[in-house]
Amino acid sequence: MIEKIKLLSKILNESYNEKTVVTCLGDFFAHEFNSSGFNIILKTDYTSDKPIFPLYKHNGIIGYVEFDCVNSDLNEFLETALPLISLKVQNIVLTARMQKSLEFQNVMKNIAKIIETQYELQYIIPLLGEMIDKFIQDHLIYIFVKKDDKFLLMWPNSCKDTKIFDIINAEPLKRVTTEELGVFPLVYEEKLLGYIVTKNLDNKLTYKEIEYMEELTSQSATTINRANSYAEILKHATLDALTGFYNRGQLEERVKQEISSSKRQKTPLCVIMTDIDYFKKVNDKYGHLAGDLVLKTVSKIMRSQLREYDTAGRYGGEEFVILLPFTKLREAKMVAERLRKKVEQANIEISDTETISITISMGIYEINPDDNEETLIKNVDKALYEAKETGRNRIVAYEV
Ligand code: GH3
Ligand code: MG
Ligand code: MG
Repeated sequence: MIEKIKLLSKILNESYNEKTVVTCLGDFFAHEFNSSGFNIILKTDYTSDKPIFPLYKHNGIIGYVEFDCVNSDLNEFLETALPLISLKVQNIVLTARMQKSLEFQNVMKNIAKIIETQYELQYIIPLLGEMIDKFIQDHLIYIFVKKDDKFLLMWPNSCKDTKIFDIINAEPLKRVTTEELGVFPLVYEEKLLGYIVTKNLDNKLTYKEIEYMEELTSQSATTINRANSYAEILKHATLDALTGFYNRGQLEERVKQEISSSKRQKTPLCVIMTDIDYFKKVNDKYGHLAGDLVLKTVSKIMRSQLREYDTAGRYGGEEFVILLPFTKLREAKMVAERLRKKVEQANIEISDTETISITISMGIYEINPDDNEETLIKNVDKALYEAKETGRNRIVAYEV
């Protein structure tokens, strides 16, 4: 008996999670007592047709051990063994909880970072969705955002569960939980901004998970509210917040102005369009914050290579347009080549330990007297497309 207890203690000492405890103890009982079908059930209200034994903790039951059958030797052994097993299980549950709490702090920190750096909802919601999805396992996550009095599903792409729509269309301002669903209102300063909905794949949300969800929802509401305010401001702004370049609207204005002054003064005008190569991979591999850092770095390098009166604007996500007044195609090619090299050589520190490099492709075009804004962009875009098609990290000039 003493020997068996010693062996049991050793096995418990060497196990580090619920799964290893179950497997190692299962082997131990099979080997020492010829028993089979050992399992640990972490529920306080459990019944079974098989023999089960409660695992006590100081103020109640933490769960049960279950066997397919138990002989008298095992029965006797368990009197001494159960308190030891119970202690180990308590320990494992506590460690898992602490781990979860650490993960939670990390998720909250990441959401805080998003608040600081991102302002586009189409961009923020998938980030929130992914993070919550990863954190609350065994549940589907849906995020709805209120727009013009309707709730738009913004994460993931579709939701076929009509029950969810029934609940959120009643616009509850407090949490609603059913056997299957958790509906968490996104409320900021009493304004209803949308809902985060969880749907069980297995067990319903635990008390602790509900608490986590409440905090995640509140933090997400702050982020979404901030994005909404930003969107309002940005409608009237001229600069892109991430890069400091002209935003799309302002860029289009500048294109018109430069074309007309080039025509008026009969001076050359060149346009360069750039696009980062394989940028999706950067986001996928290192995360969107690292992607943003890359965008900032590329825009900084561009600025450093341009003259005072050149114009740079953010045309789309990772596409930039540069206008070079008083510049012939030959010179523009040199500018572009310098830029290409600088970007290629840059070591971008995306974290304390990781540095990456990227490349860009470019299209160039020199205006001719028949051009307008549309043909200018169309032609430079064609050149960029060809640069991509013919291998990337290169420059192609469109010549008519
Ligand atoms: P290609 O070489 O063909 O250009 O490949 P690519 O992966 O760069 O493809 P594409 O130009 O179509 O990819 C655009 C990607 O840029 C999609 C999106 O994930 C990313 N993106 C767009 N805007 C932002 C932004 O503001 N921040 C970050 N981090 N990523 C962005
Ligand atoms: Mg692109
Ligand atoms: Mg790209």
